[in-house]
Order: sequence, then C-alpha cells, then structure tokens
Amino acid sequence: MKKSIFSFLLFIFLINAHATNSADVKFDMYKKAFLERFWKLNPEWASSIGNQKYTQLLLVPNDSQRIKEVAFYTKELKFLKTFPLATLSDLNKIDYKIIENELQKKIWQINVLKDYEWNPTYYNVGETFATFFTENRTPLKKTIDAFYAKLKNVHAYFEAAKANIKNPSNEHLQLAIEQNEGSLSIFENDYVDSVKALRYYPEHEDQLLKRGKEAVAAIKSYIQFLKDFKNDTPRSFRLGNEFYADKFKYEIQSQYTADEIFAAALQRKEYLHNEMFNIASKLWPKYFGSQTMPTDKLVLIKKVIDTISVQHVKAENFKQEIEKQLPELTAFVKAKNLIYMDPTKPLKVRKEPGYMVGVAGASMSSPGPYEAKGTAFYNVGTLEGWSPEKAESYLREYNKYVLQILNIHEAIPGHYVQLMYSNLSPSIIKSVFQNNTMIEGWAVYSELMMLENGYGNNEPEMWLLYYKWNLRSTCNTILDISVHSKNMSEADAMDLLVRQAFQQKTEAEGKWHRVQVTNVQLDCYFTGFKEITDLRNDYKTKLGNTYTVKKIQ
Ligand code: ZN
Ligand code: ZN
Repeated sequence: MKKSIFSFLLFIFLINAHATNSADVKFDMYKKAFLERFWKLNPEWASSIGNQKYTQLLLVPNDSQRIKEVAFYTKELKFLKTFPLATLSDLNKIDYKIIENELQKKIWQINVLKDYEWNPTYYNVGETFATFFTENRTPLKKTIDAFYAKLKNVHAYFEAAKANIKNPSNEHLQLAIEQNEGSLSIFENDYVDSVKALRYYPEHEDQLLKRGKEAVAAIKSYIQFLKDFKNDTPRSFRLGNEFYADKFKYEIQSQYTADEIFAAALQRKEYLHNEMFNIASKLWPKYFGSQTMPTDKLVLIKKVIDTISVQHVKAENFKQEIEKQLPELTAFVKAKNLIYMDPTKPLKVRKEPGYMVGVAGASMSSPGPYEAKGTAFYNVGTLEGWSPEKAESYLREYNKYVLQILNIHEAIPGHYVQLMYSNLSPSIIKSVFQNNTMIEGWAVYSELMMLENGYGNNEPEMWLLYYKWNLRSTCNTILDISVHSKNMSEADAMDLLVRQAFQQKTEAEGKWHRVQVTNVQLDCYFTGFKEITDLRNDYKTKLGNTYTVKKIQ
C-alpha cells in the first residue's frame, strides 16, 4: 500500500475531482456521518485537532468503555465493507483504506496489544487540558466552563487507570510519573489563575477551584499508586515479536514490511558511511594538517565530525538562533522556487510545555484541520538546569550545521509546511488520520531536497553533517526494530548510535531512553524518506528535462 505517501501528492492531482458517480456521493455522505460518530468516542483527539464539539467530555477508560468501542469499530467496519471499493474515485479509495486501517487498528489495540494494561503513560490528562490554554480560546468564561465540566471525570479516569494496570514495564512506569508530575501545573497554576481572573462571586470561585483541587488530588494519587506499585516480574519494555509486524503494518502503512525496511536501512547505513568517508578524507588536511589519518573508516569520520561540532551556539542563545534562522529558510525556499508557502500562516517558537518533557528535544505543534487559523508552535526544549557537560554535549550534537538541518526538518520546509498543506486537503479523512510516515518522511526528504538545491552552498562540512543527521533517521529504524523485535542489548544499541552513527553521549542516551518508552514510531522517518525519495526519483525519470522540484503535473 503506497497510499499514505501518495496522499500528499494526490490531493493536488485530484483537487478538481468532484464526486459525480452515485457511489461516491453516498461515500462522501458516509464519511461525514462516520466522523461525527467517531469523535464521540475520541473526544480528546477531536479537541486536539480543533473540533471542540466534545471538548467537555473526558471518557473513563474502563472495561465497559472498551467493550462499547470494540462493538462500535466492528459495526463500522462491517458497514464500510458495504461500499463497492472498485467503483469509488481514487480519492475515495484512499479514504476507504485509511478508515479501514484505522478501525482495524483500534480493534487490534484493544483486543490484542492491550497497552492500557502495561503502559502507564497511557493515562495522562495534561495534554488535553493544556489545549484549553494553548489554543487561546475565547471568551475566557466559556473556556473555564468547559474546563470545569471536563474536570468532572478526572477522578473516575484515574481510578479506572489504577484498575487497568496489571504488569507495567518499569520504564513506562517511570515516564508516567514524570509526565503526570509535568501535568500538575496546568491545574495548579493555569486553571487557578484563569478562574481568579474572571472575578466571580467567592462562592462560585470556590466551587470552580474545588474541582481543580480534586483533579490535582486524583493525579497525585495516580502518581503515588505508580510509585508504590509492587511488581516482581515487570513486563519487558520491548514490544516483542508477536506484536511488531502488526503494529508496523497499522501505524507505518508502508508498501514494505518491517523486515524489508530493516534490510533497506542497513544498506543505507553502508551508503552513508562510504559518502562520509570520502568527504572526511578530503577535509582531513584542512583540520588536521599533516597528521596521519586514522586507518579505521569510522574513527576517521568521527574525528572530523567532532572537530567540526565544536562550532555551536551558546546555550542561552539556542532559542534566539532558531528564531533568527526561520526567515532565512523561508527566503531560500522562495528564491529557489521550491514550494509555495502561505505567508499568512503564523509560526511561533516557544519553550517546550511541561507535559511534553521527556521524549524529544524539539518538536512542532500545528493547528489541526478544524482550526486552520490556529497558530503553529515550534517547541524547543530548554537547557536550564543542565550540567555544563550535558549542555555542551547537546550543543555539539546541535552544532552550527545540524541546527540548520533541524530547523529545515521541524519547520521550513519540513513539518510546518507539510502540516499547512495537510490542512488544505479536500479530504477531511486524510487530514484527520494523519500518517506519521508521511509527516516525518516529508521532513526528512525536505532536508535532502534543500541541500540538493544548494542550501549551505555545497560546503563539504554541511554535507558531512547532513549525512550524519540522515544516518540518525536510518539508525532510528535499525534501533527500533532491533530493540523491539530482535532483543538488542543496551551496549549494542549504544555502539550503533555512538560508534556507527557518531552521536554525542547525551543524544544517544536520550534515544535509548526514547526507544524504551516508544515503539515502531522511530521507524517512520526512514520509511517515509525512502518512500518519498523513491517516488520522487521515479517521477523525475518520467519527466526528464522538464522536471522541477515544485512542478507537480
Ligand atoms: Zn562548546
Ligand atoms: Zn520530525
């Protein structure tokens, strides 16, 4: 199935395709009605993409809720199959497949994967409540009323969580404690400050604040439950072979299997090592004069990279440097005519919110399809409170060159641009059921595309550090598959990341931490990159001399 990769391009091709045959008309009506039914069971998801219809609803994740969900998804799947797939338009064929995958995935998660039993990070209300304040909803009174209504089930929510958890892995348990602690400030500070700003009668204010306090107590009680959890035989953090191929199929939605992608990633690693060796050998005299070159390929590459990496911004300038580069990247994209960017869509750089702490250093939060006018945020992790050694290691990883590639990836023309286009899709199904392989694949592809078009002036240092960065995506895949389905040890993982992928210690440790608490997610970068570059190369061959990056038909 190549549909996920095609989705971005197809909406451009098919933007003029109106439903004319009766099967398509019916299917269009079905899609709308289906989504309405779907949101009732997924209110947090709806809110997170800007549909506030069920924003007051917090579902309690207990057995009866899960039974209800499985029944619903099974019924929908049956109904979906009544549509004649072969006669639908291409656009609707894709939507059909996306819906089918989503429904099958949901049933599989509840009946087979059962991560609600072993992954305590499953339970965290921080993100869904934080959107009340990050989305800048108005008026404040209405926001607080909805927040208050939603608070009602927080206690029952965490009681269900405690009942569900059976055999958690230690790693997920630890992260759940950290993330839930990070969520507290939304209820202890943001909510309290907002309630007070409304200047209600004291009795009314007390009533509002009381429910906030009860939510804080419920979260703290869950944290305590996790801290006290007695588990002599904790589940391994590894996903395991029995789940891996299926989770890969449902989440990555590639035409390739996990095994095929694993083989392709190993091959890419060899290719990158060779390219890097060539550049590093040429750069050697520039940085090391007449010193003898190391005979080990990887040692040579590492020495050159380490030397270049000392060029980095100061910790206190990290965020400002990112803010400075964004307009420069926009100007380059424009000058080279690479892709159209809507100048009216804002992008803001902000400090990473508390509830996100612990997984990644920089990320993008974009407005969803129901809130196309919302703000896109570039979340930057802070280095405050880090030891000087840890900060230095981080800054060397995100050195002068890599920081530029990071900004291409996260913002322009990476995630920020892709998600802006995603909201323009004529299919709400595609915008809603976004595919990580497309999202990350586009960002990783855009890095190569920028450099191929002369970003960084073809400086060998830029290419060397780009290859190192691309090696990171590649090794993400090798790591995830090896750790979760091939029992890779921590020592072997560190060897892959540090010796073979030239990462700083902090970066590698962070990745080891991440691969313990997530699974399959790390595969999307390389898989999407491979699918998009394969597609692009085919298209380039087809068009020959008339090919340009921007040209689509
Ligand atoms: Zn330094
Ligand atoms: Zn990304």
